[in-house]
Amino acid sequence: TPTHTHTNKPHSRWSDKQSKVLGDLAEEFSVSTSQLERLTTAFIDQMQAGLAGDQKSTDLAMIPTFVSGRPDGHERGSYLALDLGGTNLRVCLIALKGNNDFESHSKAFKVSDHLQEAHISELMDFIAISIRDFITSEHISSKIVEHPSGSETLELGFTFSFPVTQTAIDAGMLLRWTKGFSCPGAVGNDIVQLLQEALNRNEVNVHVAALVNDTVGTLLAHSYKHPNTFIGAIFGTGTNGAYVEDTRGIKTMTTPTTEEMIINIEWGNYDKDKRFLPVTIFDNKLDRESINPGVHVFEKMISGMYLGEITRNILLHLIDQRLLFDGTSSAKLNQHWSFETKYMSQIESDTSVTLIPIAQILEQDLGIYLNTQVDREIVKFVCQLVGKRAARLSAMATAAVIRRGLSVEGRLAGHGYPLKLSQGDHAIGSNVNKNGTNVHESTDSVVNQGLQPIHVGIDGSVFEHYPHFEERMVEGLTELLGPRTKDIVVLGIARDGSGVGAALAALIATKNVVYSR
Ligand code: BGC
Ligand code: MG
Repeated sequence: TPTHTHTNKPHSRWSDKQSKVLGDLAEEFSVSTSQLERLTTAFIDQMQAGLAGDQKSTDLAMIPTFVSGRPDGHERGSYLALDLGGTNLRVCLIALKGNNDFESHSKAFKVSDHLQEAHISELMDFIAISIRDFITSEHISSKIVEHPSGSETLELGFTFSFPVTQTAIDAGMLLRWTKGFSCPGAVGNDIVQLLQEALNRNEVNVHVAALVNDTVGTLLAHSYKHPNTFIGAIFGTGTNGAYVEDTRGIKTMTTPTTEEMIINIEWGNYDKDKRFLPVTIFDNKLDRESINPGVHVFEKMISGMYLGEITRNILLHLIDQRLLFDGTSSAKLNQHWSFETKYMSQIESDTSVTLIPIAQILEQDLGIYLNTQVDREIVKFVCQLVGKRAARLSAMATAAVIRRGLSVEGRLAGHGYPLKLSQGDHAIGSNVNKNGTNVHESTDSVVNQGLQPIHVGIDGSVFEHYPHFEERMVEGLTELLGPRTKDIVVLGIARDGSGVGAALAALIATKNVVYSR
């Protein structure tokens, strides 16, 4: 294993007290293989309970998306797409060219702090007006190359990156807000209807054809290029995953008409009661002070909105013990959320001996002028602890979904599987295989049978920009799925997944395409 993905040992220059406290922290933030294993097993159990509609036994919503089947790259047409979920609203025009290729034009509009907590009708009006602005400034109608229905109305797919229980591909009710949003008037209401009303109110001639979660959009978009995509995952401001389930496994749906359906797991909410997750006092503090305490606890250990704040909590804890910056904080560092995850990325990328670039971040961005090399080493050490834990927990969720897919005959059929690897949950590579068989045998057999790799489409700033995140994830995946993991599981960036995925969802909805594999 590459050493740089590992947390450094406490440094020889550190005082005994520094070494002791940081050593304890390292202990607290490390997630061992057996801990990962336990978390994975509980995750799979909770997926099962969610699919069975046993909401009491699970924190995973396991939402049927009414998107059945995946595109294979031959689909054609032009659609409007909307992507809302973080600080930006993106409006896009996507031309699906039919040869696994697409073109996209987009424009971003900033969603102000005010809009993130304004009444939902104000947010929806803002979206409608942004769409109009985009259509006008981009002269959209002239660019439409092939219109699905021959009508004048533009069809739009809406990627809405929050938990929504869907009743159809174009209907869904918001369960709760996450990631800092809190607009009243939305929870419990149909998001498609709210947007369509705003479009009508503002006389924007656009029809909302489909609503998808960003993970679902990512899965669809990645399938367009790699038809063997099984999972769409986001590791960005928030985190979540979607995957392809056999409809016979979905007990919450009464009359499934298709063989497979994409399920939005909403894994950010995994273990919200903290029964399995290795939460620390720093996580508990963050959760309590967050806008949505008691939910999305897993997301709060993994995603970009929170990693910096966990780190800030630890740094203050060290400062208060006079183990860092000689016991002096700064006005900036004392402020909630002031230590952004992007600083962690920058700090972890500093591999110089003197760590001068870190000094610059501390001084310019955080107003900490008195920092020694030992201080900078400690800051980097703390970032590594938090960043590595996030990557390993991300690997855990991904591995759990893959095991779920492999453990039941029929799943992953589109990949050349099924494989009846074992009776239990531990389909491949498990250290605690119930049958006591060679733990990695089944992984090897996947490769030996010449089966297609399983593609995982991923989007999000943490995966894309956080140093070593992917390597650390692959390391965790390998611990959970066996040494041949790299041959079987292919992680890939689905850049612009939300936009292209929304367009594909609009296409599926308007052409009434039902894919069956
Ligand atoms: C939301 C999910 C979303 C994820 C990634 C979470 O906070 O609940 O619906 O997929 O963030 O954007
Ligand atoms: Mg996004």
